[in-house]
Amino acid sequence: MSIQWFPGHMHLTRKAIGDRVKTIDVVIEMVDARLPASSANPMLRELLTRKHSLKVLNKADLADPVRTQEWLEWYQQKEGTAAIAMDSHHSAPARALIEACQQLMPSRGSMDKPMRVLICGIPNVGKSTLINTMVGKRAAKAANEPGVTRQEQRFALQDGFYLFDTPGVLWPRIIVAQSGYNLAAAGSIGRNAFDDELVALELLAYLQRHYGGALLARYPVAENEAELRALPDHELFERIARKRGALLPGNRVNTQKAAELVLQDFRSGAIGRITIETPTEFEEWLATGERL
Ligand code: GDP
Repeated sequence: MSIQWFPGHMHLTRKAIGDRVKTIDVVIEMVDARLPASSANPMLRELLTRKHSLKVLNKADLADPVRTQEWLEWYQQKEGTAAIAMDSHHSAPARALIEACQQLMPSRGSMDKPMRVLICGIPNVGKSTLINTMVGKRAAKAANEPGVTRQEQRFALQDGFYLFDTPGVLWPRIIVAQSGYNLAAAGSIGRNAFDDELVALELLAYLQRHYGGALLARYPVAENEAELRALPDHELFERIARKRGALLPGNRVNTQKAAELVLQDFRSGAIGRITIETPTEFEEWLATGERL
């Protein structure tokens, strides 16, 4: 079973972004550093062909630093796009972003030729947090649930430097099945769109293969990493559920609660700094995976 996702008002957002970019100098596409490809929206690329753009891998504090470096190199070398990683709660990376924009468009950023920067990204990726950090007060609404409707807003950062928030809601566009699971694991698509248990099982299977040590440290359910890696997925899930007390009367496993626990642990970083897709994996999914 794959995750189906229907981008409801995508045509409206497409038009709004298309209109907006006409008077924009640099477009920032913010993605989630734990799943950079799946949290991107391929539609943006079509709209931005002649624009300067900058990828921001946000939530880098939750992502695997080695893999973040891999992604940054991939964007720069393979896609020819400037890219930086950040935790948008902190102001130093926000300043790095101003510098990156100025490098892309050195002729802009003065009173008579202002720099106009549009921040695009799917819900929950951290756009409001970045704007709040940069503007220095609670300017944009930060919400935990994806899909909170937002008005387009403009924020003056300093003389000659303006930030614009995404007009409308830019839903993710899922092009391969694995991306759906990864977006769901990160909590970036609405809860009704997927089954927690299925998503938790997929996530655990991935962590078992790539982050066995971190998984074992969080859930000591096997003697060692080799044993943990050899567990069938349902067995691993059940052991975690029992270890964490996700049980129903009669000592049966409460699968919903166990799934929520695992997903919450991943989203909060409690399992460790984890990235659930690499550039190589994403290229493989595009080449051989189930296309949606
Ligand atoms: P928006 O929908 O793109 O505007 O996303 P928000 O700014 O509302 O952020 C969604 C959630 O992600 C909030 O709970 C933020 O605190 C959290 N968040 C945003 N940026 C970061 C980051 O760089 N690191 C971490 N760990 N959390 C972040």
